Amino acid sequence: MNPPSPLQRAQPWLHDTSAPRVRVTILGATGSIGTSTLDLIERHAERFEIVAVTANDNAEALAAIARRVNAKRAVVANPAGFSSLQAALSGTGIKVGAGAEALDDAAAMPADCVIAAIVGAAGLRPTLAALGAGRRLALANKECLVSAGGIFMDAVARTGTELLPVDSEHAGVFQALAGHDRSAIEKITITASGGPFREWPADKIADAQPKDALKHPVWSMGRKITIDSATLMNKGLELIEAHHLFAVPPDQLGVVVHPQSIVHALVSYADGSVVAQLANPDMRSPIAMALTWPRRMPTPTPRLDLPALARLTFEAPDLNRFPALRIAIEAMRRGPAATAVLNAANEVAVEAFLAERIRFGAIAATVERVLGRLEREGNLVAPSSLDDVIALDHMARKASQEVFAA
Ligand code: NAD
Ligand code: MG
Repeated sequence: MNPPSPLQRAQPWLHDTSAPRVRVTILGATGSIGTSTLDLIERHAERFEIVAVTANDNAEALAAIARRVNAKRAVVANPAGFSSLQAALSGTGIKVGAGAEALDDAAAMPADCVIAAIVGAAGLRPTLAALGAGRRLALANKECLVSAGGIFMDAVARTGTELLPVDSEHAGVFQALAGHDRSAIEKITITASGGPFREWPADKIADAQPKDALKHPVWSMGRKITIDSATLMNKGLELIEAHHLFAVPPDQLGVVVHPQSIVHALVSYADGSVVAQLANPDMRSPIAMALTWPRRMPTPTPRLDLPALARLTFEAPDLNRFPALRIAIEAMRRGPAATAVLNAANEVAVEAFLAERIRFGAIAATVERVLGRLEREGNLVAPSSLDDVIALDHMARKASQEVFAA
């Protein structure tokens, strides 16, 4: 027998062909996180088995993925995509489905890990279906926790399943917390790259064009999160995400702008020690962590070269030039009805900006107006079920359209 390679010594489970394969479902397989997940899995195809893959409406792209990885099931959320999915997969033995119910069923299929990588509140029901079925969740879809954090964390507690963060900052916090005394946490800080407008003056930011906002300096991601990164709403959503994931009150959460995006998160403890997590910005590292924790799988993420980097810089976020972050922090303090409304109004405003219906500066202004109006009308009532969250979400979407029309 050949001696084990260094990789085999480090990662026996990846090469232990007698161990059962890790069964993975990918919700949002055609997106940026879905693609990075598939890249990792296909590097170790013999150790993984793909259960289900889903997409919104790109049946051709989904069918190509399903064939390539020999998935058991492929589902498009939009029923209009069913016939093309069926035609593209005929004769393969891969089961096809379409629509909301088929999406929930796919999410709940037996699997060792479900990658939740749908964008927006559209992911609420299927992601919760995976949790409800007791599936370990690798969560990229942060809007689930922003809209329905309490409901998700209750489901985690009830089912005893694991919820592992894929968002790089939260994967960083998770690692900086591992093995430490939780009662001694003084502060959790997540970093922000600052986005493409970090150095722009306020009046120029207000009139930024989609092509400027879509040019992220560090990360290559889906369109919605790229715009959220330009407004810094993304960092606000991430504070709310951290608040739920790590059960830390708003006062103990902070943001620091770190343009190099090498340090992803820092946890400060009572003894004055700060534990930080560092990695080059490549989503394959946090995805790998969530997929296989507490094991570690190798990734092609470029390794850190600190002398070559030479300098890591940090600055405070500017809440005047980036009001979306301030509005999100206020919503986090206000509570779960406000964060559900914040999320929905932001989704609608980002879409309207990308469609060139509103200015960049109107994204945050719309969210703030919708929150103010629903508060005045007495509609910010804490949700106690997913249906309550969805009702708040719909109310906020309608109010956003009315703000545009006003
Ligand atoms: P994306 O737009 O590239 O992909 C989204 C995926 O969701 C696609 O597969 C799409 O088909 C599917 N989808 C979209 N609308 C849907 C709907 N209505 N119903 C069902 N499926 C739908 O987005 P992304 O950049 O991969 O981001 C996915 C999630 O991960 C987001 O919540 C984002 O905030 C989060 N996230 C992304 C990154 C990143 O680097 N891309 C990093 C951290 C967190
Ligand atoms: Mg992030």
